[in-house]
Amino acid sequence: LSVSELVQSSFDRINTVDDKVKAFMTLNEEGAMQAAKALDGKLGTEEARGLLFGLPVGVKDNIVTKGLRTTASSQLLGNFEPLHNATVVERLNAAETITVGKLNMDEFAMGSSNENSGFYSTRNPWNTDYVPGGSSGGSAASVAAGEVFFSLGSDTGGSIRQPAAFCGVVGLKPTYGLVSRFGLIAFASSLDQIGPITNTVEDNAYLLQSIAGYDKMDSTSANVDLPDYLSSLTGDVKGLRIAVPKEYLAEGVDEDVKNNVLQALKKLEELGASWEEVSLPHSKYAVATYYLLSSSEASANLARFDGVRYGVRAEAENLLDLYKKTRSEGFGDEVKRRIMLGTFALSSGYYDAYYKKAQKVRTLIKNDFEKVFEDYDVIIGPTTPTPAFKVGEKIDNPLTMYANDILTIPVNLAGVPAISVPCGLSNGLPVGLQIIGKHFDERTVYRVAHAFE
Ligand code: GLN
Repeated sequence: LSVSELVQSSFDRINTVDDKVKAFMTLNEEGAMQAAKALDGKLGTEEARGLLFGLPVGVKDNIVTKGLRTTASSQLLGNFEPLHNATVVERLNAAETITVGKLNMDEFAMGSSNENSGFYSTRNPWNTDYVPGGSSGGSAASVAAGEVFFSLGSDTGGSIRQPAAFCGVVGLKPTYGLVSRFGLIAFASSLDQIGPITNTVEDNAYLLQSIAGYDKMDSTSANVDLPDYLSSLTGDVKGLRIAVPKEYLAEGVDEDVKNNVLQALKKLEELGASWEEVSLPHSKYAVATYYLLSSSEASANLARFDGVRYGVRAEAENLLDLYKKTRSEGFGDEVKRRIMLGTFALSSGYYDAYYKKAQKVRTLIKNDFEKVFEDYDVIIGPTTPTPAFKVGEKIDNPLTMYANDILTIPVNLAGVPAISVPCGLSNGLPVGLQIIGKHFDERTVYRVAHAFE
């Protein structure tokens, strides 16, 4: 099989299924076929050195790609062609993957169902009446539908893990600082991380190996030695200590989901691990804390979309009018809701009561995790309280939509890594198991996920 043939088969699959799944925003057919041809010449020679040589990849549309339209699924960026690549894209190029196209998402990564895309909603390949999750819905659906070998997503409060759970694939949110955010269109900079979405844990480790590591272009990039993730996939979990937070199997978590997680824990026990119930007492404040902090950061980050620097510009009489019209026409309702909430929380007179208070609670949530990790190697629970929900079911009630992220959000607030791996079905839809690790301990997370898989 030549690289061209492999990449062509990816486009064939997209042509067959994507009018139903709608995972892609933009296809890179010409660029991809050209790149594939260049690699064909290296096939079978010493020159074929890339770790992911010739494999078709999809990239979430909030990760900038030079000369390839990047919209973050916002009408405001409907015509935006970046002048440079994100660091992760440069690293994919160095690993010799082929970028097949850009993947649909909730606008600026705000959402849990893909219904907030400014263009169209991606559907769940398992059943197209259901949402694929979000915000990296296109990234998860494209892998689940067999359109690409793997993809990149981003996760601010669950946006890699929740769609991975809903679509029955593997998604990792790395430790904050492990993967460069340079070229990621920022939502909430203190929480955002790019990560891999794949069919298997092994593929996931390969993709992380290729994109992780220090980058001087990202001031929050961690200058740590990059471990070998692949060698952690030993299948051995003997003596491993697992913590199961009682808050993660509490009220609101579907019976079926709970039973699947308990089954998974049983399997890990049979493999020689042990588990105990623990408490993360401040979990109940996580959703409120997250929406305050993430919206505050978003209101500042999204100020740059003013009709002057990027994307679409509205017709206007004067500068103020230009800002107003561009932003009111370009942003969707959810984005406007967050900007208003964030601007309010940061305004003088309210800052101490909201933003500063939320920062303090964030520290308490982080401390909860640190305390548990003194005695345990990993924390395990469900990725989401329920399997995928129906298209339209939650879109009119932002609070029920937000509540879906209750089990993923604390992880971003703490900055630790977590993976979602498939752990069974409920009414024909996938359920995700979440494995949370210590800072920079992706190796243990992978080891457990791989042993369980
Ligand atoms: N669903 C959450 C939100 O709407 C998380 C999104 C994300 O992780 N980017 O903010």
